[in-house]
Amino acid sequence: MSEQYVIAIDQGTTSTRAIVFDHSGSIVSTGQLEHEQIFPQAGWVEHNPKEIWDNTREVIGQALSKANLTRHDIAAVGITNQRETAVVWDKNTGEPVYNAIVWQDTRTQSIVDELAKDGGVERFKQKVGLPLATYFSGTKIKWILDNVDGARAKAEAGDLLFGNTDAWVLWNLTGGTDGGVHATDVTNASRTMFMDLETLAWDQSILDAFGVPASMMPAIKSSSETYGTVHTSQLLREVPVAGILGDQQAATFGQAAFDAGEAKNTYGTGCFLIFNTGEEIVHSKNGLLTTVGYKLGDAKPHYALEGSIAVTGSLIQWLRDNLGMISSAPEVETLAKSVEDNGGVYIVPAFSGLFAPYWRADARGAIVGLTRYVNKGHIARAALEATAFQTREVLDAVNADSGVPLAELKVDGGMVANDALMQFQADILGVDVVRPKVVETTALGAAYAAGLAVGFWKDLGECSANWGEDRRWSPQLEGTERDRQMRLWKKAVTKSMDWVD
Ligand code: ADP
Repeated sequence: MSEQYVIAIDQGTTSTRAIVFDHSGSIVSTGQLEHEQIFPQAGWVEHNPKEIWDNTREVIGQALSKANLTRHDIAAVGITNQRETAVVWDKNTGEPVYNAIVWQDTRTQSIVDELAKDGGVERFKQKVGLPLATYFSGTKIKWILDNVDGARAKAEAGDLLFGNTDAWVLWNLTGGTDGGVHATDVTNASRTMFMDLETLAWDQSILDAFGVPASMMPAIKSSSETYGTVHTSQLLREVPVAGILGDQQAATFGQAAFDAGEAKNTYGTGCFLIFNTGEEIVHSKNGLLTTVGYKLGDAKPHYALEGSIAVTGSLIQWLRDNLGMISSAPEVETLAKSVEDNGGVYIVPAFSGLFAPYWRADARGAIVGLTRYVNKGHIARAALEATAFQTREVLDAVNADSGVPLAELKVDGGMVANDALMQFQADILGVDVVRPKVVETTALGAAYAAGLAVGFWKDLGECSANWGEDRRWSPQLEGTERDRQMRLWKKAVTKSMDWVD
């Protein structure tokens, strides 16, 4: 084939990126635009889907023009996205009926409580791998149908479509009201609460329990196949769209963690550890989610255990934006290095409750251990350490569920630029932490999924061969000190719980 590149669209929580990759998995060019974070009330987080789609078109243009490329150079388009974030739009006009309700949004707690009255939060867990929580798309769709004027009637008439932002971008990219393809992949579908993990199909009884018409739901496809081609009105016209993976699964794929027993942890707004369990569906006894890892065309799916942490990098943003303690995220490292240790301070950033392994909606943030001695260096240090402690708790759960302790942890995401954090992470885990050369693993994973579907990469082995180690951090902390700090952290966590009236 003459095309030399694959392009990935990474529709993330804070920004949308388009990244062009070559056959070695190296980045050729990037386009990126942030979108507005809309906070209408405490606990509510929205995005404007139209802004996201406009940005998508623009970043594709940026990435192509920076490298002087045209559509003729591109073999396929892959999409990766913020998962769970729910968009509902009118298929006749292409207009969203409401803003996208973002994964962090907690407005649907009353819907969760109502549904949990019958069978508790684990009511659907055996089938879908997830506890009832505000995090997933299901309650967000229900909220839109219950609260937006006329939405339910339109949905029942078959006029509304739902998608996570992958489906929203795919539908628009392939023509929108002019024949747009309404589909998603198994990994995104596994984050709605509505997909049966065994059959990989929507479960009618759960849709009924939520009151969501099946006609709104996208077709569930594999993560690697041609869903359609880009519409003639777009820059990439006629290029096949051939890969979709939710962002965390995409990062796992981009880290070449293709086989059972392999794992990665991504440090962004939140932190997400994914552990590949191969073709086996493993139900966690330790607060992890069961999810789909990937599915290539007609091959069997790979499943995964996931530890999701809601707040990690966003705690650093909070220090910057709400407290004004730093003027940029990287500054937190300088500040943290101005002190020897955390000075006895622990920060539990339970801004929207606690996710894995606790799943406590009633928790709220806590700063404990304050004395007159503490200064902002200690606070900065405690903020970074919070990420590492939360990751340790998730890894402990993974090790308990799998029975085989992970020997080292592959890492990626915006926070892995922070050397102090990575060293502390290795210290508190007691295993090596390894960063790859290409840290844009999310986009790379989507590019791999698309490229594999069109034969740009011939098999997984070719993708694995592209993985290269950039840096490794080894534990330097004594085991007894590690245990003491973990004990204090767990004590701090108990202080954050049972806070909401
Ligand atoms: P996402 O994909 O979730 O939008 P990214 O992977 O781009 O996130 O990472 C951005 C996050 O990482 C932000 O929350 C930011 O506060 C944090 N971050 C970026 N650089 C650093 C740094 N040097 N030290 C600590 N945190 C950082």
